[in-house]
Amino acid sequence: MKEVKLKSCPFCGGEAEEKHSSTSGLFSNPIAYYFVQCKSCGATGEADLIPRKADEAWNRRPAPENKPLTLEELRKMDGEPAYCVNSRGDGKWAIVHICDDIQDSFCGDGNSEEWEFAYYGLTDDSNQLLDGAWLAYARKPEQEEFKLNRLKERLERETP
Ligand SMILES: [Zn+2]
Repeated sequence: MKEVKLKSCPFCGGEAEEKHSSTSGLFSNPIAYYFVQCKSCGATGEADLIPRKADEAWNRRPAPENKPLTLEELRKMDGEPAYCVNSRGDGKWAIVHICDDIQDSFCGDGNSEEWEFAYYGLTDDSNQLLDGAWLAYARKPEQEEFKLNRLKERLERETP
C-alpha cells in the first residue's frame, strides 16, 4: 500500500503521527479505527476504519483562520509571545506583559518600542486602525490578513 506522508499540524506546525484505537465493544464487537494526532498540541484529524483514509483526512485539515486576538485573549497570555501589527502593517514578535491595571499592560521586548494596551484595536469610522493603534496575533499573519477593515466587526463584538 502506498504510504501517505503526513503534513505538519495546521495549528502549531508540530509533527503528526498516526494512532489507532478501538470502540469499547460493550454492546458489539470492538471495532479498530485510526486517526492522526499532533504530537505537540494534540489536535486530531477525522477517524476512519482505514489508516490511509485517516491520513488523508488529516492532510486535508485546513489551517484555522488567523484572527486578531481579543484583549481578553491577550490578557491571558502574560509572558507569551504575540505577533503585533501596527496601522501601517508593520509587524514583529513581542512578549505580552500584563500589569495590575490592564491599561498599563503592553507587548514589548524590553528595549524597543512597546505596544500599549490603551491603543489596542482602535479604529476610525472607516474601520482603519488609527495611527498608533495595533493588533496582535497568535501566529504571524499573511499579508492578506492585514486587511484591517475585516477586523472591526470582531473587536466591536468582543471589546467591552
Ligand atoms: Zn499541533
